[in-house]
Amino acid sequence: MRILIAGAGIGGLTAALALLRNGIDVELYEQAAELKEVGAGVQLAANGTRVLHALGVGEELKALSAETQSKEIRLWNTGETWKLFDLGPVSIERYGAPYFTVYRPDLLDVLARAVRREKSDAIHLASRCTEFAQDDDGVTLGLESGDTARGDALLGADGVHSRTRQTLFGRTSPSSPASSPGAASYRWSGCPSTWRAWWARTGSGPAATSCITRCAPGR
Ligand SMILES: Cc1cc2nc3c(=O)[nH]c(=O)nc-3n(C[C@H](O)[C@H](O)[C@H](O)COP(=O)(O)OP(=O)(O)OC[C@H]3O[C@@H](n4cnc5c(N)ncnc54)[C@H](O)[C@@H]3O)c2cc1C
Repeated sequence: MRILIAGAGIGGLTAALALLRNGIDVELYEQAAELKEVGAGVQLAANGTRVLHALGVGEELKALSAETQSKEIRLWNTGETWKLFDLGPVSIERYGAPYFTVYRPDLLDVLARAVRREKSDAIHLASRCTEFAQDDDGVTLGLESGDTARGDALLGADGVHSRTRQTLFGRTSPSSPASSPGAASYRWSGCPSTWRAWWARTGSGPAATSCITRCAPGR
């Protein structure tokens, strides 16, 4: 069986790694000419790190991550803080896996290297997916270059503005669960009138232990 994947972000690369490690052939098509993320961080909760450990990249990731010990949320203008939860040993005890904060390009790099270890030419860069067609035997994926690829199934991992999703379900708003099948909107509930937050890691490596989320209305 051969699975085509549109998009080599965190989702596409993780899916590719899982399929390859289970003996299923994969071809990944990524529109960008090189695999690079913007220089921000990402929090990986226990449900995610457990999967990454199972896929064999846990230790590699651990060396590049900070294992957060606890988390608090802070109001931007007063500095008032609320403790959210304990992490560190509590995460391992309760959920069986650690809570990491990691630099996004590092995560992408670890995943891409692991995919290439399984199949060196699995990732096709500068390959923008434009259309696809299904029939009884599989799916044909069209690329911007005019090339096509044939597989048994197509996995759309092409992000929040997914062309794959739009082709299947029509134009939908990613922030509207009602109009977007399977989509979820998120809102931080601990901090009134805040819908967006960002976090900062203090220090780096194993010594970095705190994660601060600053909240502001409309940010
Ligand atoms: C500010 C911010 C903070 C976040 N923080 C966290 C966090 O701390 N923890 C967490 O778990 N999640 C976090 N998220 C969510 C997380 O970033 C996303 O869930 C995750 O990146 C989604 O991965 P993805 O692979 O589905 O999509 P993406 O990462 O968007 O990857 C999609 C890929 O598909 C490619 N692509 C798009 N269209 C095409 C096409 N037509 N053909 C070929 N390739 C295409 C893109 O170039 C990209 O490489 C955050 C999101 C934001 C915006």
